[in-house]
Amino acid sequence: MLEKIVIANRGEIALRILRACRELGIRTVAIHSEADRDLKHVRLADESVCIGPAASSASYLNVPAIISAAEVCDAQAIHPGYGFLSENADFAERVEQSGFVFIGPRPETIRLMGDKITAIEAMKTAGVPTVPGSDGPLDDNDERTLQMARQIGYPVIVKAAGGGGGRGMRVIRAEASLLNAISLTKAEAGAAFGNDTVYMEKFLENPRHVEFQVLADTHGNAIHLGERDCSMQRRHQKVVEEAPAPGIDEAVRRRMGDSCAEACQRIGYRGAGTFEFLFENGEFYFIEMNTRVQVEHPVTEMITGVDIVREQLLIASGEKLGYTQDQIAIRGHAVECRINAEDPNNFMPSPGDISQLHLPGGPGIRVDTHLYNGYRVPPYYDSMIGKLIAHGETRDVAIARMRTALSEMVIDGIKTNIPLQARIMADANFQKGGMNIHYLEKMLGL
Ligand code: ADP
Repeated sequence: MLEKIVIANRGEIALRILRACRELGIRTVAIHSEADRDLKHVRLADESVCIGPAASSASYLNVPAIISAAEVCDAQAIHPGYGFLSENADFAERVEQSGFVFIGPRPETIRLMGDKITAIEAMKTAGVPTVPGSDGPLDDNDERTLQMARQIGYPVIVKAAGGGGGRGMRVIRAEASLLNAISLTKAEAGAAFGNDTVYMEKFLENPRHVEFQVLADTHGNAIHLGERDCSMQRRHQKVVEEAPAPGIDEAVRRRMGDSCAEACQRIGYRGAGTFEFLFENGEFYFIEMNTRVQVEHPVTEMITGVDIVREQLLIASGEKLGYTQDQIAIRGHAVECRINAEDPNNFMPSPGDISQLHLPGGPGIRVDTHLYNGYRVPPYYDSMIGKLIAHGETRDVAIARMRTALSEMVIDGIKTNIPLQARIMADANFQKGGMNIHYLEKMLGL
């Protein structure tokens, strides 16, 4: 069993990891920037090390500083959380070469999944359904490219192999603009990601975003924990997530989940991961794999009872998975609202001092946040300041509990998106369920 780890992240996920460590008797080292001395988990950790100034590039992305902190504190492992260095294969490699355990997949796996073309290739080989497309990079043969697009059928989307965060893609609706759009996307991808490889896919007009959670140990065991629906998005950023996905029946869940778990075994996956799919007209299309814990992992925890972060720590300790697939059962429904420090009308970040804080409670309510009375939200990082999760026997009960919880929640001193979340929860179409990825922007009139 690991005895001491470095938590290489901040905010709510750092606190989430710290809590799992304490339950398992693992000691913790919180690394933080100069702007983050007052973070809750920094106060609660066994040790803390300031690794640099506020800017992420000098602190949370500062690989040598993070590794020296692990050395100085004599830690055995590093948990990267999400964001920052969590999907950086070079970082994972440096961690392992320095003699520490990286709490995540092997660096080769991160690299394989980080390139969308090799990821899609690996999924196809494993029998996971993908979007009809170019089956590899586009080359200089314009005639062949035009022919391919005709075969796939317009609209098509051209995507950068190294893209991320919703950048590096372009939708093409007619043949006349195809070749020009490809060269623009190539140029942008080269500048933004240092890799101008692009590929082409069928563009799905009205899909939902449905993703499967997996866990795999180092003994060849892999299971899935069912799916989440994360279709409520603004600018490709998830706003509300839920599990299970409305309208997915048990047989489909089993078939898709099993194929994700099998893909994990085939690629020698290790740790927690997520297979992201677009879901349209009853069909799943793989788009990418996230090789880390995700923001929305709590909705899966609420319906399965599995502590995903605890499993990550156990897997990294070399233990076998604590569950077999037939021990995983889904109970009820869970919804998560991301709480952001932002103006609910124009989405501008709203950092500052928390003058009053009242967190909701009651049956089925979970709050994952690092906020406390008097805490100052710094302006340097992502605006997400917490997550409110509601669980109930049915989706309706979960939503009703969420609405009550949102109405109780008070965060004074800064602006938050609580009013926006209350509006979403009150929306008749959201309540119906199964809306596609464009619905939220339409609902908001964006
Ligand atoms: P990133 O790594 O930048 O997040 P993804 O491949 O996950 O890129 O795609 C991000 C989003 O772009 C998807 O959630 C979806 O909204 C849209 N998208 C990507 N590929 C397609 C496609 N083939 N058809 C329709 N929408 C797509």
